[in-house]
Amino acid sequence: MSKLQSYIKTFTMWELWQGLSVTLRNMFKPAVTVHYPEEKAPQSPRFRGLHALRRYPNGEERCIACKLCEAVCPALAITIESDVGDDGTRRTTLYDIDLFKCIYCGFCEEACPVDAIVETRIHEYHMEEPGENIMTKDKLLAIGDKYDAMISADKAADAKYR
Ligand code: SF4
Ligand code: SF4
Repeated sequence: MSKLQSYIKTFTMWELWQGLSVTLRNMFKPAVTVHYPEEKAPQSPRFRGLHALRRYPNGEERCIACKLCEAVCPALAITIESDVGDDGTRRTTLYDIDLFKCIYCGFCEEACPVDAIVETRIHEYHMEEPGENIMTKDKLLAIGDKYDAMISADKAADAKYR
């Protein structure tokens, strides 16, 4: 670029007008941003969010306290204690997931032989009090009961990818 051209560009503020033309071109285009939370981006059925413990349709807990999920968890977020019930089946007496430790890897769900522990697509949750990060068995079962239809539908959709 010659010196003259450079001077002309400087005095006419050429680069500024170039930049403003980009702004002007995009000003009237439809917005591409999603106005969360009123609008939501599409979510995969494989999304790994809040955990849940599932039951069979007859209400029986699926979990057989095999502790595979606890063993496979890389973050040591799962704590399980178990005992044998009156009917001879092994059940968890304590099943805690520490959400502050969890890295949402999905290994617990992958390891579970009876599809008991799952990660739902729920991602809108928060804690306000100390200790709320611990998801107890009761809380996990309640989530499983509440969102059973969604979990089943996501599992069926996920099976198509495998
Ligand atoms: S998602 Fe991963 S880190 Fe979280 S509890 Fe399951 S295995 Fe552990
Ligand atoms: S949730 Fe599944 S993997 Fe974990 S203890 Fe229960 S049955 Fe075993």
